[in-house]
This record gives sequence, structure tokens and C-alpha cells, in this order.
Amino acid sequence: MGRARKGPKFAVMKKVVTSKAIKSYKEEVLNPNKKDLTKEKLPRNVPNVSSALFFKYNTALGPPYRVLVDTNFINFSIQNKLDLEKAMMDCLYAKCTPCITDCVMAELEKLGQKYRVALRIAKDPRFERLPCTHKGTYADDCLVERVTQS
Ligand SMILES: [Zn+2]
Repeated sequence: MGRARKGPKFAVMKKVVTSKAIKSYKEEVLNPNKKDLTKEKLPRNVPNVSSALFFKYNTALGPPYRVLVDTNFINFSIQNKLDLEKAMMDCLYAKCTPCITDCVMAELEKLGQKYRVALRIAKDPRFERLPCTHKGTYADDCLVERVTQS
């Protein structure tokens, strides 16, 4: 019985993976309120920068991409069983390097045991570590600032 239940459950999860993951990665590409060489999945409530800059910024984008990731991005990639780097490449058709800031790392550390997998993934040596100079560990402002600067 346990076996019979496993099959369908897995199939359903796979489906969720594909649509959800593709959507989130596409959003990253199609919704660049900013972005130069650095890209990021932003929280939805961030105020939009002038849309006139949309294409201007986009044309400057080119591989290899450096992708700023936040805490949730890592967590969702785990939930959807996606390899961060590989999924990025599948989506953007180019070499991608996930970038983890100090504060994102700190956020993951603060989340504790439940997110230890995320922390381990974030410590992957293939990922680029970006040092932070700001106070505290609130990552959202930090990421927005980095993107704006670029
Ligand atoms: Zn930071």
C-alpha cells in the first residue's frame, strides 16, 4: 500500500516542480525592475523603477550571469528539488553563478535546524560569496541596494 501511494505522490510533485520553478525563473528574466550584470528574484512589493529603464538595463545583461539569490529562493529550490545552478542554466541558457550575500547566509543560519539543508547548499563552493558591510542581517534591503547600484 505504501508503494502504491508513493507513485502518484511523486508524479504530482514533479508537476509542481516544473511549472512553479519555470515560472519563478522566468519571472526573474522577464521582470527586471533593475539589473545589470546582477540579477535577483525580488519580493513582489518592491517599488518599480521607471519602466523606461527596462530595455536599457536588459540589453546590458549578458552571460555569464551572476544571480543574486535570497533566502526564500534557496528554500524554494530545495522544496522543488532543483539544483540551484543547474536550474538557472536550464532557464537562462547560459553560465550562471549564484551569489550569496553574508546577510542571506546569516538569515539562513538564524532559521536554525529546519533550514540546515539550505545553509549547506548556500555554502556550496561553486557559489560566489558577497561580503556585506551593512549592519544587521536584513537581506531584502541589501539585495535591492546591490541591484540598484549595478
Ligand atoms: Zn547584506
